[in-house]
Amino acid sequence: MKALVYLGPGEKSWTDKPTPAIDKPTDAVVRLLHTTICGTDLHILEGDVPEVTPGRVLGHEGVGVVETVGAAVRNFKPGDHVLISCVTSCGSCTNCRRQMYSHCADGGWILGHTIDGTQAEYVRIPHADNSLYPIPAGADEQALVMLSDILPTGFEIGVLAGKVKPGDSVAIVGAGPVGMAALLTAQFYSPAMLIVVDADRNRLEVAQGFGATHLIDINSENAVQRIFELTDGVGVDVAIEAVGIPASFDTCQAVIAPGGNIANVGVHGKSVELHLEKLWIQNINLSTGLVNTNTTPMLLKTVQAGKIDASQLITHRFALADILAAYEVFGNAAREKAIKVILTQ
Ligand SMILES: [Zn+2]
Ligand SMILES: [Zn+2]
Repeated sequence: MKALVYLGPGEKSWTDKPTPAIDKPTDAVVRLLHTTICGTDLHILEGDVPEVTPGRVLGHEGVGVVETVGAAVRNFKPGDHVLISCVTSCGSCTNCRRQMYSHCADGGWILGHTIDGTQAEYVRIPHADNSLYPIPAGADEQALVMLSDILPTGFEIGVLAGKVKPGDSVAIVGAGPVGMAALLTAQFYSPAMLIVVDADRNRLEVAQGFGATHLIDINSENAVQRIFELTDGVGVDVAIEAVGIPASFDTCQAVIAPGGNIANVGVHGKSVELHLEKLWIQNINLSTGLVNTNTTPMLLKTVQAGKIDASQLITHRFALADILAAYEVFGNAAREKAIKVILTQ
């Protein structure tokens, strides 16, 4: 089969790999229909994720058709259309029993990380019964790729961890795919104010179409000052950090109202300065996390019911064989006005 293979920092190739086969009885092999590229894949290619070794097939998101299943797989059979979760989970270890699938003793985020991933014609999915989700007939399967990672990440680690409530003021710092996913799913709870902060004018305009009530372009405005103006000097009830750099975390610390929640979603490559000396006396809560994907079945229902339109996140479409061109576009997201790219086989 063909696959997108990581060859070391800055090096990748669309090349031949052996087609995966069943290794353990709980495995399934899935033929990809649609996959995508994540910001995490770009971090890997920059050499920031040393656990990823040369030769690894990248990708942890996708929708496909079950090709073969191991003898112990009960929930799926060949021909079933499935959503692949970015988190693999056995469903029975101590952490899985607590719905902490991201810390499964025999799983977690392994696809495109420590085992071969989804940017390929076929992928082997361990613990298929708990790591795949059935796709209802007639679903928009391209849109469902947004449920592999970004929608559960924005929802669980941003909106749920940030405890967004009706009437809240919410600041989302960073309008990339995960910030947009937080913006879409925060609206389940009817916040009064959804302020989106970014440096990319196009992304801010897209955020407005997705339901942002206020936009702050940090090229021309001071985000902290503007947020205090918008909130009568109080700050926001929830600040969602969706970038992963010290400056955006600082903005969240600076604008949070007393009793508020800072939900860190961004993946940080270096440490931030935590102003505990200011936060403690303001009764601030701080949360972090890696997505568990335990909300995926619920999000599938909301997408199916039209409560959120996940297809809006897709800006570019390519054939899977043109994945190198898709990396060029996604790697230059601001210039290309890209949010999520879809690759179809
Ligand atoms: Zn991802
Ligand atoms: Zn487990």
